Order: sequence, then C-alpha cells, then structure tokens
Amino acid sequence: MNRQIRLKSRPAGMPAADNFEAVDSPMPALEDGDVLRRTTYLSLDPYMRGRMSDAASYAASLNLHDIMCGHTVSEVVESRNPAFRAGDMVTGYDGWQEFAVSKGKDLRKLDPRAVPVSTAIGVLGMPGATAYVGLLDIGQPKPGETVVVSAASGAVGSIVGQLAKVKGCRAVGIAGSPDKCRYVVEELGFDACINYKTDDLVPALGAACPGGADIYFENVGGKVFAAVLRVINRGARIPLCGMISQYNTTTDPGGPNLRALLVQRAMMKGFIVSDHADRFPAFLQEVTPLVRDGRIKYREDIVEGLDAAPSALIGLFEGRNFGKMLVRVSADPTRG
Ligand code: NDP
Repeated sequence: MNRQIRLKSRPAGMPAADNFEAVDSPMPALEDGDVLRRTTYLSLDPYMRGRMSDAASYAASLNLHDIMCGHTVSEVVESRNPAFRAGDMVTGYDGWQEFAVSKGKDLRKLDPRAVPVSTAIGVLGMPGATAYVGLLDIGQPKPGETVVVSAASGAVGSIVGQLAKVKGCRAVGIAGSPDKCRYVVEELGFDACINYKTDDLVPALGAACPGGADIYFENVGGKVFAAVLRVINRGARIPLCGMISQYNTTTDPGGPNLRALLVQRAMMKGFIVSDHADRFPAFLQEVTPLVRDGRIKYREDIVEGLDAAPSALIGLFEGRNFGKMLVRVSADPTRG
C-alpha cells in the first residue's frame, strides 16, 4: 500500500491535526515510460498553509482530499524509462506520500557523492534558491552594506545571511530564541542576531546596525517588519519574501507604517521563487561549491515517518523547527 496524507478540511487559523487524513492507497501501477520511486525525504514549508486555504493566492489551492503537496527526494525502485534506473536518487514534487509514479519529466537526478541528497530540497533547493534570488537579484548587495534578515536561523534566512557575508556585507539576523541567535552568530558567522521575543527591537537594531540597514530580507511581517523600517537607510531594498506571522491570522493584523519607504526612497518588491526558475542553474553553480566547502552551512531538523508531518508543519508556525524542516519518510539509502 502507498500511505498518503491528504487535506481533510481547511484550517481556520492555525492548522490542526484533524485538518489532515492518512489514507492507505493501492500502489500505483506502472506503464511503459514510468518511473516508480519511494520517498526518502519530504520538505515541509510555510507556503503549504496557503495551499490548504481556499483564499486566492499566487498558486491554486489544494482541493479537499488532495494529497498534500511538497518537494521530495526519492529513490527509484522500478523504472520502465531508459533515463532512470532502480537505485537512482531523484528530486521532484511528489507530496506527502510514500510512493509516486510519473514519466520522469518532473524529476531531476541527484549525485549522492557530491552533496547529501537531502540538500536538494533545502540549501540547494527551493529555500536556497529563494535566498539567492531575493538577496542577489532584488537586494543587490554591495560590499560594506548591512543586510538584516528575519527568521534568520531557518531554511531561507540562514542562507541569506551567509550569502550576504560571502558578498562582503554585514549580516544581522532576527530569530526567536537564544539558541537560534547563538547558532546564527557562532555557527553561521552573522555579525549579530536579535531575539525578537525578548529584545527591545528598535534599540537592538540600532546597536546591531550602527550604519542603518541597506537591505531588509523580510520573512515574517508584523512588529518585526515595523521595527526594521525604523532603521532602513536611504535607497534601501526590501525583498518581500514571506510574512509568516500572518499566515494563520483570522483578523486584520494591521500593518507597519510604510512612510519610511517614502522618506528613504526605499524599494520593496515581492517575489515568488518559482517565477525565477531561469536563475536556478546559476544558483546551483554558485552555491553548490560553497556548501561543499563548508563556506555555507546548513542545519536540518528531521522528523521520522510521514505520520509526523502534520505536527511538524504546524511547528513551523510556532518556531519549533530549528533549521530546514524535513520528514524522513523512509531510510536514506545514501547514508550509512
Ligand atoms: P523557516 O525554516 O524559517 O521556519 C519558519 C520560522 O519562522 C520558524 O522557525 C520561526 O522562527 C519563524 N516564525 C514562525 N512564526 C513566526 C511569527 N509569528 N513571527 C515571527 N517569526 C515566526 O522557514 P522557511 O525558511 O522555509 O521560510 C521563511 C519565510 O520565507 C516564510 O515566510 C516563507 O513563507 C518564505 N518563503 C518565500 C518564498 C518565496 O518564493 N517568496 C519561498 C520560500 C519561503 P523563530 O523561532 O526565529 O521565530
């Protein structure tokens, strides 16, 4: 049987366990040209909250009882397609299920000898590409500038700050616990990190950014955004990547005072990484060696088994994850 987790009902506010249903479906049958794979890792990402809702957004909502969507790393178990062999490791978008079948056009082969395969859905996958496009293309960092990033210990934020350092900038993170802040500074090499839950944000930002902020990579929205706007410099750039503090709100959260954009002639630009697929080869070419050499570090937070996925997804909105949130759906054949 093929275990799947599907959308049972739409959340009102924070998702809950009963919005999901586990279903044991028959194994998919293979036809000529098909590739059958077993999911090794499933990526859990904040955007999944939007797909569970029926509110209009940049991508279509899931229908009720659809399999939950998501990027995956998988092992080919049977192939009737000459381009793939049993044992190949691939990345695709198979969603929350143990097995999937397709003609393989949606798959990219991975080289387990180059980097751990799980990176294909983390630092070297969609989250890493988001950091790359948002920081480099929209943020346009110049050496000596100060880059502030929120959700700094997370999948996207951790790469933003490290890329900022690679580009010769000062990197200031904002995160939600002392452990996360310590990790961001001591392990990832940011210059400073502010705990938005305990620090007085505006003075802390002033101290961490003595010359102000030239780029604010926005991941969370709300009071953090409002505070960073108080320290932006003239000509600042704000890649508007995510607003996770608002994904589960049921009432109008209000908003920051955008007057600073006007006064500082700042630019704010929303972006969705999937619109920038043409940048993916450049991203992989530039960032893969940095990951391989350890100049860009990453941390994974892995839960075991598909049934743990709903709770782990909810944890993203509570800051329970520490690093890229992944589910190990089955044993990783490339790791001993
Ligand atoms: P993370 O790995 O950063 O995990 C989410 C983190 O967000 C949590 O660990 C928590 O960290 C923080 N968080 C959760 N709730 C709140 C809150 N109410 N206020 C402030 N912080 C909160 O996730 P990702 O790196 O995958 O995603 C980061 C952001 O990037 C999200 O907004 C996401 O939607 C966005 N994104 C956008 C893309 C695009 O194409 N535009 C593509 C990919 C991601 P802490 O403990 O520090 O609070």
